[in-house]
Amino acid sequence: MNFIDKVEVKVVAGDGGKGRVSFRREKFIARGGPNGGDGGKGGDVILIANRNQNTLAQFRFQKELHAKSGENGDKQRKHGRGAADLVVNVPIGTVALNSDGQIMADLTKDGEQVVIAHGGQGGFGNAHFVNSVRQAPQFAENGEAGELLNLQLELKMIADVGLVGLPNAGKSTLLARISNAQPEIADYPFTTLSPNLGVVDIDERTSLLFADIPGLIAGASLGKGLGHEFLRHIERTAVIVHVIDAYQDDIVKAYQTVINELALHDKSLLDRPEIVVVNKVEGLDEEIIDDLMSQLRKAVPKKTPLYAISAQAGIGLKNLLFTIETAVAEARQAKELTETEIVPVHTIPNDLKTWTVDKQDGLFMVQGENIERIASRTDFSNKEAIQHLRDIMRRQGIMHELVRKGIKTGQTISFASGQTLEY
Ligand code: GDP
Ligand code: MG
Repeated sequence: MNFIDKVEVKVVAGDGGKGRVSFRREKFIARGGPNGGDGGKGGDVILIANRNQNTLAQFRFQKELHAKSGENGDKQRKHGRGAADLVVNVPIGTVALNSDGQIMADLTKDGEQVVIAHGGQGGFGNAHFVNSVRQAPQFAENGEAGELLNLQLELKMIADVGLVGLPNAGKSTLLARISNAQPEIADYPFTTLSPNLGVVDIDERTSLLFADIPGLIAGASLGKGLGHEFLRHIERTAVIVHVIDAYQDDIVKAYQTVINELALHDKSLLDRPEIVVVNKVEGLDEEIIDDLMSQLRKAVPKKTPLYAISAQAGIGLKNLLFTIETAVAEARQAKELTETEIVPVHTIPNDLKTWTVDKQDGLFMVQGENIERIASRTDFSNKEAIQHLRDIMRRQGIMHELVRKGIKTGQTISFASGQTLEY
């Protein structure tokens, strides 16, 4: 049973700024030294898990995320300013996959973050290219393009509240009564795939995800009935709400049956904050309700809150929800205090692989992250810039390999990134 929400987004990091071609101007000097500054780095796109973010709904309206480009370099060695990163808040439990289905990020903790798309480096200005033989370089580099990714974001939802109880206790009725069918929620695949989940809006800022764990019967922990599949889900809920039918012959036994099943599945579930709810009390006399409550009071742990409600008539629900919300908040806070792990900050390695040269159908294809980068930064309208690229290719042995593969003057070298160069 998966409770998954999915969206597709295009993520585009910022381009690097262009390097500048410029020369110092001084009186009596026809042409001073080159002083073109470098371009600034483009902004990264960073995904960060934020516990105040509950859904991926925002990405249904905002399908593209663009970080800003770096500024261009300027005269007098002024480097362009780098662009700010684009920080995107996603819910805890978000997994990001690339178009090949590879997992790029799996954010499970508040504050956990990943640089999902790297901004392009700025191009060097002409001041950078001065050397003993080239005193006045007339070229500068373009900035690198920012990374572009088509991402699928998936949210593995972790219910805050698990509703347990014997069949017919009124769990589904309670959930239907309290959950808010907001339109954006109605779009979620899970509302059709898993009608056992419901989002309950407590107030404008807080909503809780309820999972209705159906058909928990004696033997569920051994795989009987439907309950088994769902027990696994309950392991991750912060609070358990235990619903009991007021018309049970033995209300204490009904309570214990379910508790035993939970314990058989996972003993630690007994330590989970629990709220016990006696349902269907709308037609019952005060005295009967009081009697049921005092029977249960003796059976449940001291700290367990008890409520008498009617899911159908809407009695006692407001107080119940308030208590649930408080319990969830406390459980989360307690968890934060015990979790001393360091929140990881990931970055996807963009290691510079070496190059390859392939001859295919008479075309010469140069591949390799580093050289493609340099090619993508090259201003192909400038002869000197092209010469600079050739120099790098020569030094790296790429030219040599091209010759070995049989390239002739005038033939075309293609870079995987799209640029071409005449040999
Ligand atoms: P579940 O198996 O725990 O999900 O129980 P359901 O929500 O399906 O309810 C079982 C039956 O109890 C249904 O016939 C409901 O109409 C009835 N029911 C649920 N809540 C109440 C209630 O507050 N009062 C009364 N009288 N009946 C209720
Ligand atoms: Mg049900």
